[in-house]
Amino acid sequence: MRALSAGLRTLVWLAVLAAIGFALYAFARSRPQDVPWTPLDLSQPVGMFTRGKIGDLRGDFAGCRALLDRAGVRYTALPVRDAAGQCGYDDAVRLRGGGARSIAYAPADVGVTCRVATALALWEWQVVQPAAQARFGSEVDRIEHFGSYNCRRMYGRDSGAFSEHATANALDIAAFVLADGRRISVVGDWTAGSGRGDADKAAFLREVRDGACSVFSTVLSPDYNAAHRDHFHLDQASRGTGGACR
Ligand SMILES: [Zn+2]
Repeated sequence: MRALSAGLRTLVWLAVLAAIGFALYAFARSRPQDVPWTPLDLSQPVGMFTRGKIGDLRGDFAGCRALLDRAGVRYTALPVRDAAGQCGYDDAVRLRGGGARSIAYAPADVGVTCRVATALALWEWQVVQPAAQARFGSEVDRIEHFGSYNCRRMYGRDSGAFSEHATANALDIAAFVLADGRRISVVGDWTAGSGRGDADKAAFLREVRDGACSVFSTVLSPDYNAAHRDHFHLDQASRGTGGACR
């Protein structure tokens, strides 16, 4: 009798383990973006490990470009820029309009690291456009920016750490222009005025800022400091536990 119940207990435990194993397998199949070992796929929703997987593309220019290719993002690979000291890049692309991306950049000539390009695509598809549709019933046609590559230290100081801009690993976003012509700028709309639709614009800016934090390692907005009162700084700095999101 005792031997039988021991055998039964073993069977019950095996059944429980099998059920747990199956549940994990089913979860990994249904939500690959929330599992650390699945490869990054830009067609999947942004998940818990998406930002880390983009960071893992550092040093894998070919693999990163293959992701953009599969997703239908149009770009031109930029030649290596070997600038003095801590500046330059060997993994940058110039984003081109069209293809899978409906948003144009102004100025059009924006060259960023492939990791920034990857995060921008996810941000546009899964954060910016849904937020614009929900709040304004219109798509974003154009994103105005202050540029990417700039061989300088942080805040343009003479000493201290170099900015991610020195390796084209950052982009400064200034404004969003909707298909219906409305324009939402960080400098003009971060603080809601009393005008009609102003609260929506301020809420939209916070929503796209917060959404950027799930794909970029650093996101700095007017909440961070006065130097960012007129733009969002988005970068893919490699940091152990993720950079600031404010
Ligand atoms: Zn910046």
